Amino acid sequence: MANFVRKMIKNQIKTLNQNKHTNFESIYIHIPFCEIKCPYCDFNAYSNIDNLTSDLIKAMKVEIDLWASLFEKKDIKSIYFGGGTPSWIDAEYIKDILRSISKNFNVSDNTEITLECNPIDLSSEKISTYINAGVSRFSVGIQSLNDKTLKFIGRNHDRMKALNSLNNLRSNNVTNFSVDIMYGIPYQTHEEIKETVSTLLEFEPSHFSSYSFTIEPNTPFFKYVKENKIKEIDEEEYLKIFNILYLLLKENNYVNYEISNWAKKGFESIHNLNYWDNNKFLGIGPGAHSYINNFRFFNESSPKKYINKISKQNSLNNLVDFADTLQNVNFISGKDHISEETKIREYMIFSLRKNSGLDKNQFYNQFTKNLEDHISSKFDDFLDLQILEMNKDIYKFTDKGKLLSNEVFREILYPEG
Ligand code: SF4
Repeated sequence: MANFVRKMIKNQIKTLNQNKHTNFESIYIHIPFCEIKCPYCDFNAYSNIDNLTSDLIKAMKVEIDLWASLFEKKDIKSIYFGGGTPSWIDAEYIKDILRSISKNFNVSDNTEITLECNPIDLSSEKISTYINAGVSRFSVGIQSLNDKTLKFIGRNHDRMKALNSLNNLRSNNVTNFSVDIMYGIPYQTHEEIKETVSTLLEFEPSHFSSYSFTIEPNTPFFKYVKENKIKEIDEEEYLKIFNILYLLLKENNYVNYEISNWAKKGFESIHNLNYWDNNKFLGIGPGAHSYINNFRFFNESSPKKYINKISKQNSLNNLVDFADTLQNVNFISGKDHISEETKIREYMIFSLRKNSGLDKNQFYNQFTKNLEDHISSKFDDFLDLQILEMNKDIYKFTDKGKLLSNEVFREILYPEG
């Protein structure tokens, strides 16, 4: 009997080696290094671990090879270097990782390759190395152009350095770049946001990401708020800031294609749309998340432990059941099988995040189920309160509703809870 089972498993492995697992079209690369750790940040990012850079990049290249052995070689639509601060490490490392991906997957001139950067790193020389390596899109963490605010949130750049980085991008003929800004920072004013956004518009970024500042648990800022050392922003000022930001970007023909993201037509982020369209993606590096074959899973987050674990993983077992394959990967820290019900809730949230909205007919096409059976009566209240609007069977957030989106998402995740 035992022999029979062994033979059956062997045959299954053989079958899979000929018919590899279905594939993803987007790859996320997590670079966890930062010059300093900002006091509000709860990302998997570290300062003072630069001595690990070379070993970490080697381990990430091994991880790319390991996954490539399981999947068929398919066209890659997008690659995204996030972190941390990918621009903090030597640009040659980025080149090296891209070479490794190209060796294993089909990367073409059409692949969107985005690099997250901090202003202090964007010298002309580095920008041209990135461009030569294939980077086609830059995402710059400007956050604010107000020196007081930048100092308050502990950033390592000031207004001058931020403007220099954008000038350097422009002088290298980079037109496809995004700027990140944060709103709702304690002590920030609507005049400051107006000045920051107006100045940034002069550089004609193709894309804006605007994030509401949040105080995350386990950060120094969380402690400061608890100790009353800093006060969260006043609600009225927050509303003014939000309104000015939306008005300025709208007036300048940026489309709010996702709650936090604005783009000139044709410059929406392919990589991020892939997440919001609930498509598969592979994450490489410490703490990176992946979504493949109905599993969401994530890597060991400690860079040191990640390097160590990768060094002990010689190959991956290509088993019929993807859960079994993941079970044998020592550098994965957690995995969740995504049930049909979870998929439905994720679909509803991601659809509402996009300006295309949550369409009853598309929902039916996707799940052969009626959307009405999956929304609570609270949705009627959201419509009455003009948080949501409904047009041609499509639910969308109103502009003011975007401010309260978390209420709606909570209701989708925990109906009437
Ligand atoms: S630079 Fe970004 S990732 Fe690094 S600590 Fe600051 S906010 Fe976090």
